[in-house]
Amino acid sequence: MMPYFSETFGNPLSMHRFGAEALEAVEIARGKIAKTINAKPEEIVFTSGGTEADNLAVKGVAYAKVQQGKNIITSPIEHEAVGNSCRYLAEHGFDISYLPVDVDGRVSAADARAKITPKTVLVTIMHANNEIGTVQPIEDIFRIAGEKGVITHTDAVQTYGALPIDVKAMKADLLSMSSHKIYGPKGIGALYVREGVDVVPMMHGKGQEKGKRAGTLNVPAIVGFSIAAELAVKEMKKESKRQTKMRDRFINHITDAMKGIKLNGHPTKRLPNNINLSFDGITGDEIIKDLGRHGVAASTSSNSNVLRIIGVSGEKATGSVRITLGRETTESDARHVMAMLQKLVENARKRY
Ligand code: PLP
Repeated sequence: MMPYFSETFGNPLSMHRFGAEALEAVEIARGKIAKTINAKPEEIVFTSGGTEADNLAVKGVAYAKVQQGKNIITSPIEHEAVGNSCRYLAEHGFDISYLPVDVDGRVSAADARAKITPKTVLVTIMHANNEIGTVQPIEDIFRIAGEKGVITHTDAVQTYGALPIDVKAMKADLLSMSSHKIYGPKGIGALYVREGVDVVPMMHGKGQEKGKRAGTLNVPAIVGFSIAAELAVKEMKKESKRQTKMRDRFINHITDAMKGIKLNGHPTKRLPNNINLSFDGITGDEIIKDLGRHGVAASTSSNSNVLRIIGVSGEKATGSVRITLGRETTESDARHVMAMLQKLVENARKRY
């Protein structure tokens, strides 16, 4: 039996070793990721990405707490992974309360306090918005929720690796992360679940990840994610300072040089890499196409719900352009795009 087994599967001893090595690699990666957010390794649940982490957090807590209450507090500008999880729950008998957002896309701790009822089981508010870059007052909101015994979740996909995150200081019970936003492999992410917090799993199977997420783990992706996380955190201080400076110079230059421009999102409480501008008299689509022709990746939020909710509509929404800075973006790239954007907008405006 032995020769057949070895020929077919390799030496069973080395196979066993490979399994143990993979397991060890996963645990090392878990420890590294936990350290980046001041969590314990056993509080990290690997998922297929930010979307799955959000689904597990929102639906997992809702179903775990169903005996206690069915009210969930969120914002109307969450990423679809949270937004559609909440809509799904609403269709299945849960009650979703939406906090109002101001013109910069911020929610307030006072509104959160006013909305919490004895039936509230979860507050889920994103750390920063992926379209307009606004960073939310998470610590203030979560402190209030914590005082009232309400579980807290934040989608930190946009801030993880870009801004410091300490789950204890933030008073987050759950926090979603994604690897590809920090230059790690796609299709891997994690949910921080504070020790003692219950989530009903979305994946049923052999009970991996302490029963919170069944399925064989994607070892190479997990290892890649942990290396990307370590690198991002190591470079974070320097990189976020560099990008913030570049972002502000870009925004100030463009708004000084031309009229009819609005910055979408909060002027200072925003992601270091996010520039979202609305230009009167153009359509975002044509500018995006023109920028793309010159090798610049930008996007428009012309059909954006987020812009509509913060009161940017009509011409202002149509003419919105989002530029995302990255680790590879240099000062000279930014200057080049600034000059190009200015010329493209001026030319487009002349055509109308
Ligand atoms: N949440 C936010 C704020 C995001 O920006 C994204 C992705 O862009 C996600 C969730 C989804 O993450 P993933 O692409 O890893 O599923």
